[in-house]
Amino acid sequence: MDDHADIKTLNREDLATALSEMGQPSYRLRQLVRWLYGRGAVSFGEMTDLSAEFRDRLAARFTLDTPSLVDRQVSADGTRKYLWRFADGVAVESVGIPAAGRLTVCFSTQAGCAMGCSFCATGVGGLVRDLMIGEMIDQVRLVSEDFGERVTNVVAMGQGEPFADYDATLEALRLMNSPDGLGIGARHITVSTCGLLSGIRRFAEEPEQFTLAISLHSAVQETRDHLMPGVRGFTLPALREALRFYTETSGRRVTLEYALVDGVNDSDRELDALIGFTRGLMCHVNLIPVNPVPGTGITRPTDRRIREFADRLGVSGIETSVRTARGVDIDAACGQLSQRHAE
Ligand code: SAH
Ligand code: SF4
Repeated sequence: MDDHADIKTLNREDLATALSEMGQPSYRLRQLVRWLYGRGAVSFGEMTDLSAEFRDRLAARFTLDTPSLVDRQVSADGTRKYLWRFADGVAVESVGIPAAGRLTVCFSTQAGCAMGCSFCATGVGGLVRDLMIGEMIDQVRLVSEDFGERVTNVVAMGQGEPFADYDATLEALRLMNSPDGLGIGARHITVSTCGLLSGIRRFAEEPEQFTLAISLHSAVQETRDHLMPGVRGFTLPALREALRFYTETSGRRVTLEYALVDGVNDSDRELDALIGFTRGLMCHVNLIPVNPVPGTGITRPTDRRIREFADRLGVSGIETSVRTARGVDIDAACGQLSQRHAE
């Protein structure tokens, strides 16, 4: 492990190794995790239940960075969008969505994204870099501090593909879940993936009850290939197989996200293919009226067509919801998060 690495890039196993190399007892790990993630310490100096000598040694070995707030926008509906900058200048966005008795944070797992989905503002700019464990957790904690409220739900639906950065994302989710970290219930932690099969299979076997959502967007191969070029190599039958493995192994259902794009995936043929895909799969369909992304020519179907699509799924016995847009006046809806402010 690098000397002078940021301490929040380490997973708990590596941190435990570092502490034992420094001659510390094993309970130090929990103390440190509480300081770093539970309380969000910005310096080693404030970790007052550690000896001054040990704090100095930590400071000599590691750095401890906290993202800085570059921009914050508040929507008429209370949704807040944040732009954070890390020590190396890379920036990402997160969104805080308040609702009665709930605060949901949508956080980023990568700066940019390599998948290039044609309807996604993040995909347009390509991948900048993966985020580190602490960079994901800090987004959630800082939003919580800004609202002055506990976060009840988190969704990895900001910038980036969580399963392209699997290990860091999983460790971040675990620390969000841990009582020493953010103490958020596992069932209230959701990962959305474009469908990387090995990630789905690994996720199925994780012991926590985290929730999985898949960006399906079309159950017609050529339409999906066109909308989501980054996952062109994975066929729909192989994706369905991985999803069945997930539901059977975990005993949990999967959410299928379907961004409705006018004239692309809202035809009757697409609807029939979607109904066919869900048959025998323990799932829920979440229809998302697509947020138009400037320069792409992509628009959403009429409200009437969206309703019709939802009703026909319902009649076929498929549990369906239509996502209500939050924060639209500040471009804080899913898929609106881009690198553009960062440049
Ligand atoms: N990379 C992951 C998670 C981040 S994207 C994934 O693709 O699942 C989070 C969600 O926003 C995905 O379902 C994604 O397809 C959706 N999304 C992206 N652009 C969108 C847009 N313009 N309108 C509506 N949803 C969009
Ligand atoms: Fe990446 Fe998800 Fe956007 Fe596709 S929709 S480009 S996978 S962030």
